[in-house]
Amino acid sequence: MPKAQETVLEIDLKALKHNFQYLKSKLQPSTKFLAVVKAFGYGSDACKIAKYLETLHVDYFAVAYINEGIALRKAGIKTPILVLHPQAVNFKALIENCLEPSLYNAKILKEFITATSIENQKNYPVHIKFNTGLNRLGFWHNDINFINKTLSLTKTITVKSIFSHLAASEDLNEKPFTTNQIKDFKTIAKNFEKTVGYKPMLHICNTSGILNYPEAHLDMVRSGIGLYGFGNSEIENKNLKPIASLKTIISQIHLIEKGESVGYNRAYKSDGLQKTATLPIGHADGIGRQYGNGKGYVIIKGQKAPIVGNVCMDMIMVNITDIDCKEGDEVILFDANTTAEDLAETANTISYEVITAVSQRIKRTFIE
Ligand SMILES: *Cc1c(COP(=O)(O)O)cnc(C)c1O
Repeated sequence: MPKAQETVLEIDLKALKHNFQYLKSKLQPSTKFLAVVKAFGYGSDACKIAKYLETLHVDYFAVAYINEGIALRKAGIKTPILVLHPQAVNFKALIENCLEPSLYNAKILKEFITATSIENQKNYPVHIKFNTGLNRLGFWHNDINFINKTLSLTKTITVKSIFSHLAASEDLNEKPFTTNQIKDFKTIAKNFEKTVGYKPMLHICNTSGILNYPEAHLDMVRSGIGLYGFGNSEIENKNLKPIASLKTIISQIHLIEKGESVGYNRAYKSDGLQKTATLPIGHADGIGRQYGNGKGYVIIKGQKAPIVGNVCMDMIMVNITDIDCKEGDEVILFDANTTAEDLAETANTISYEVITAVSQRIKRTFIE
């Protein structure tokens, strides 16, 4: 790979393929694979990721919002797209783009039926979400009769799947809770089938669900973070490959005398002669202020250089006193060795937040 000449997020599609195949290897051949590409494909570039996964015959995509689904359609994606958290104001656009909504309460179910009637739809595919303990979005078990009544009054929609979401699939201390969510969902599915009279697809597993609860793979699984190379455990992190590397370069090097300060509010004060490097990446690029003042670090020539002082909007300064480097040299924020999860841990957050925070102004490059 050529050295970075500006701040770039490098996406390794070979690693994406590896992760997809690894996760698929955990499934029965008949279990469908839904790739979650919300939030710009977890920061990677949803269209590129989706295009590539389409060549690998992924079965489904999911995004959070309707606009994200429209972007995929504009990029030529033909695979079905589930919209996890649609807003009624955009239903016309959802229908025009053949996106499939998750419907999670009475209000949105009725609003969608109204929209499909106005648009003269018949049997439009929808996905009904049930709450089994996350208490975020979803109908409750005892809403099945209401759903059935509502469905029996319209021919505009058809339920393609029913699904739920696990609250703590990565946390094996919560195994009893998760097992109970799975059990509840299976009961909901049975009652739904009995009441409504047909059998939609069933799905409940996210990435950690795939890895930790094989009995819950059902008809389809929904994987996000695993595709991007994180398994939420030391063992699974070894089986997966982070696909994104965030790199930049050294803009300027300073020699700082004892007692001088670095950056805004003079948050860092040098206790001796030190060398700092200024880098073109800041909190507007996704390196939040929580990484400042010695918490986060970057890698230069294989060595750790801690962030000194406050993170600026477009820049950070790092301590390179003991590193033999020069202006223009490459700097690594995270890659497959020093991962986004390592960076996340310095500021008490998770890989999900680090990779989705990478600003859209940073150029994405791809390794095929
Ligand atoms: C984001 C999301 C996923 C993907 O979760 P990962 O832990 O990234 O695999 C799956 N299902 C729903 C409903 C989600 O919101």
